[in-house]
Amino acid sequence: MIDILSLYPNEIEELVESLGEKKYRASQIFSWLYKGVTDFSQMTNLSKTFIAKLKEKAVIKQITVEKKLVSSIDGTVKYLFTLDDGEKIESVLMRYKHGNTICISTQAGCRMGCSFCASTMNGWRRNLTPSEMLLQIMKTEADAGEKISNIVLMGIGEPLDNYDNVIRFIRLANHKDGLNIGMRHISLSTCGLVDKINRLAEEDIPLTLSVSLHAADNEVRRSMMPVANKWTVEELIDACKRYIEKTGRRISFEYAMIQGVNDSVRDAEKLGKLLSGMLCHVNLIPINPVGGKNYKKSEKNSIGVFTRTLEKYKINVTVRRKLGSDIDASCGQLRASHSS
Ligand code: SAH
Repeated sequence: MIDILSLYPNEIEELVESLGEKKYRASQIFSWLYKGVTDFSQMTNLSKTFIAKLKEKAVIKQITVEKKLVSSIDGTVKYLFTLDDGEKIESVLMRYKHGNTICISTQAGCRMGCSFCASTMNGWRRNLTPSEMLLQIMKTEADAGEKISNIVLMGIGEPLDNYDNVIRFIRLANHKDGLNIGMRHISLSTCGLVDKINRLAEEDIPLTLSVSLHAADNEVRRSMMPVANKWTVEELIDACKRYIEKTGRRISFEYAMIQGVNDSVRDAEKLGKLLSGMLCHVNLIPINPVGGKNYKKSEKNSIGVFTRTLEKYKINVTVRRKLGSDIDASCGQLRASHSS
């Protein structure tokens, strides 16, 4: 069966024509889909016979809210969704002054194996379809009764490990008759798949790229992230520089601060030298301790010294404000507690 919500308008046109109907029906179907219809019968401007033919060929995918947690501190909402094959994923709705942001999942599980991350603990199950990524937004908007203006691909999964579906999702989310969310309101976070960063630089999509760097030193990075065995920090930074050159976009580097692992002045100096002169931003995230490793978040004081050291290299630094701390809002934790 065709997953119709994952199709581009021209592909729906092909489907419509193959069923013997006029092309313009495709734009009617496309706009119904983004109004959140769950069944072809709800497309009231289509004939009954056409609807019957559509139902034979295509499905409108659905996901269901399994659990919802609302933070009493800041109104952050975390959703656990069940997919049509029973897989579970998470999305988080964050409310900022500049608008609602949703953090969505791109895979059920993850195969990157980062030692500090809850999403990878039970391994990888499968890639999400573009429709399943769109539905996280549509269901959340419907449930919250609010519009979402920003998307971050920072939930469960490695977006660049599900490259084609993620690119298709981004184009559909951006489409004026789709979710109509501006490219500049979309951020994609990657653990640093160099070949895919190079590919992304060639797409004409001016999104914001975040790179989970977490260490400037290869040995330290390898102790945290298996992907660092495939590409060195230097190779990753070269790819980032090419990306910036090609797109003119600033890169945001994520740096999870772990006490005694990557938070010394020496670590900051190394990072400062590495990023000096680059069009970038560093986001320091006090680690949220999960899983097997005995990681502890850095002391406030070391984060302060780290920040000032980077600023000495004229690097723009912020410390991430934590939302939803009472509901385990960091992705992967809820899913992990729901899998057997
Ligand atoms: N796979 C992508 C996106 C998902 S993770 C990536 O690696 O970027 C989103 C961000 O949360 C990444 O920067 C990741 O390194 C970070 N992260 C994961 N687990 C964390 C934890 N326990 N504490 C703090 N940050 C964490």
